[in-house]
Amino acid sequence: MSLEAKHPIKLNALYQQVILDHYKKPRNRGRLPEPAFSQHLRNPTCGDDIEIQVELDAAGRVKAVTFQGRGCSISMASASMMTEALRGKTPAEAVATVERFKSMMRGEPGSYKDLGELQALTGVSKFPVRIKCATLAWSAFEEGLAEHQGGEGNGQGD
Ligand code: ZN
Repeated sequence: MSLEAKHPIKLNALYQQVILDHYKKPRNRGRLPEPAFSQHLRNPTCGDDIEIQVELDAAGRVKAVTFQGRGCSISMASASMMTEALRGKTPAEAVATVERFKSMMRGEPGSYKDLGELQALTGVSKFPVRIKCATLAWSAFEEGLAEHQGGEGNGQGD
C-alpha cells in the first residue's frame, strides 16, 4: 500500500532515499523515562499523530528527543531527523534550528546548507498540503518547550 497515494510527490532521488531511510529505520522512536516535557500534536489533514518527548541535561541542553505516533512517511521521517538534529543544543539553539527548518519548509529563499541532511525535506515545500506533515514534530518541540519555559509570563513588550 502506498502511503503517498493520496498526495503523490516527486522528490530528488537522493533526498527520497534519506527520507525513506528515516521512515523505515526511525531514530529515537519511543518513550523517555523522565522527560522534561512532552507534546502531542495532530495534523488532521493527513492523519499524522505525533508525540515528542524531550530530556534536558543539568545544563539545560537537549539531552534526548524521542517521538512516537503514526503518520505518513514525511511526518515520520521528519520527526526522526529532528530527534538527531536537536540533540546537544541549548533551548535557544534548538528553537533557532526549528525556525530555520520552518523557513526552509515555507520555501523562503537562501542557503540551508547548515541544516545538513534535513535539506532532504526541501522538496516537500513545493507541496503545500504536505508542509504540515514535515513541520508537525518540530512544532510539537517548539510548543512543548514554550510551555516548559512558561510561567514567566508572556511578555509582549520588547
Ligand atoms: Zn502527513
